[in-house]
Amino acid sequence: MERIKYVLSWVLWPVLFVTCMAIAAYGFAHGHPVLYFDIAYVLLIISLWRLEIFMPHERSWQHPDGQSLASILHTLTSKGTVQGLLIFSSTIGLADSFGGAAGTGLAIWPEDWPMWAQVCLGVVAAEFALYWAHRAGHELDFVWRFHAIHHSVTKLWFLNTGRFHFIDSLMSIVMGLVVLTVLGAPMEVVKWLLVVTAFIGMLTHCNVEMRFGVINWVFNTPGLHRWHHSKDLKEGNRNYGENVMIWDQLFGTYYNAKYRPPVDIGMKDYMPVAFWKQLLWPFLSAGVKKKLEPDFEYIAFIKEKKP
Ligand SMILES: [Zn+2]
Ligand SMILES: [Zn+2]
Repeated sequence: MERIKYVLSWVLWPVLFVTCMAIAAYGFAHGHPVLYFDIAYVLLIISLWRLEIFMPHERSWQHPDGQSLASILHTLTSKGTVQGLLIFSSTIGLADSFGGAAGTGLAIWPEDWPMWAQVCLGVVAAEFALYWAHRAGHELDFVWRFHAIHHSVTKLWFLNTGRFHFIDSLMSIVMGLVVLTVLGAPMEVVKWLLVVTAFIGMLTHCNVEMRFGVINWVFNTPGLHRWHHSKDLKEGNRNYGENVMIWDQLFGTYYNAKYRPPVDIGMKDYMPVAFWKQLLWPFLSAGVKKKLEPDFEYIAFIKEKKP
């Protein structure tokens, strides 16, 4: 059994990712991208849920942390906000600006490239914005207030994937879409970016024992993202990439040490347990926080001083 687990640990990430992408590609090719994306996404969730029981990375992360409901509600509110934004932008005609000649972009997008190459370019280009949106979430106090919701969990598992304050999600998706709009990317590339981000995000947070090798050089993996959830800023303020690591490599925030990432993850700031308080938390003053939660202690925002 240990041998099977060892082999699985090497092949799981690429097999799951490629299978999900193949199902989504079939959907795109046959005119049902949403349906086939949903099928792949549900299959991925079920696979990771079973694998987390069968071969966990950290056994102690299998225990309930009392945050499952809050994480699900954050997932629903942030996904709902992003979907609302996409519907709103299409009703006011913003979505028409995606796409080449007729669009408002710079019309420098290489529309004659094969779609797979355009998707790769779209992911790398949008990732530039996602990288800086995420990095701002760790280096600017008023953005960290929102991003702290994601880092308040003390264990990583697939259910934490969508746990973002909806303002946090909104900021990063708007920045990503602005880059693609300016470049004049077609809507199909935008759809593929959302698909890739959904699959990689779900894989990134899973508590499954996996090995990555050279995959870590290119893609964001659970191995890299576990460092990002460390309480130690030397490890935590690293690996900001959502999908690919190219911008971390270029801007010097890539981190992958030889030793095992910490089990005791999270953050030093206080976060209330209830979902509705977490939603309000970024907007409240320290005084109001103390009234709502007597255990609250104010900790000044720390911007890591790089050597
Ligand atoms: Zn973060
Ligand atoms: Zn995370």
